[in-house]
Amino acid sequence: MNLILLGPPGAGKGTQAKRLQEKHGIAQISTGDMLRAEVASGSPIGLEAKAIMEAGKLVPDALITSMLANRLQGADCAKGFILDGFPRTVPQAEALDAMLDGLGIGLDAVIELKVDDALLVERIAGRFTCKSCGASFHDSFSRPKKDGVCDSCGGTEFVRRSDDRRETVAARLEAYHSQTAPLLPYYAGRGRLRTVDGMAEMDMVSRDIAAVLNGAG
Ligand code: AMP
Repeated sequence: MNLILLGPPGAGKGTQAKRLQEKHGIAQISTGDMLRAEVASGSPIGLEAKAIMEAGKLVPDALITSMLANRLQGADCAKGFILDGFPRTVPQAEALDAMLDGLGIGLDAVIELKVDDALLVERIAGRFTCKSCGASFHDSFSRPKKDGVCDSCGGTEFVRRSDDRRETVAARLEAYHSQTAPLLPYYAGRGRLRTVDGMAEMDMVSRDIAAVLNGAG
């Protein structure tokens, strides 16, 4: 199964992509995670991407599409993949179509997680993850059961993304509306787009996605 999760920052793409990965044994491909790893390692790609990411803007299409082309060849993609955070522009979507054609594979669905901007700012500005296992938490919506201790692994160090500050979130939302939202009609026109209410509680969103994938949506 080959899927794209589309939606603004903070819509819950990462959470749902992880669940789909576990449920279907397909690869979760987050271009944001890949870029953060490049930044952390200080690679040439990371050096180019760092300032752009911190400004809440999109990195150049050529850089991200070549990164993704390599990733799609990974052995873990044999059973399929979920793209989380790619494509983010129409040229990226066109490049993806060409890549998939070349590999002889098709897209099963593009799932849009629809969420109001006002809720997104609250969701993003409070989120943090466990430094050891990556489990996600939120200052208001899902604090660890014991303050300062990760529910999943017992870790005591947490990290916040540098681009999750309120000022940067506005720029990221603007990039979404101006550069990524045109993908909605792009995929609707190809009969691939399915929309799910991303404002609902996480388990409900997972159920709605499952219904869409079963053809009931
Ligand atoms: P994310 O973790 O998906 O929110 O991505 C974090 C940041 O990485 C974005 O704000 C962009 O700066 C960059 N990024 C991730 N994926 C892409 C993409 N497909 N195209 C351009 N920039 C991207």
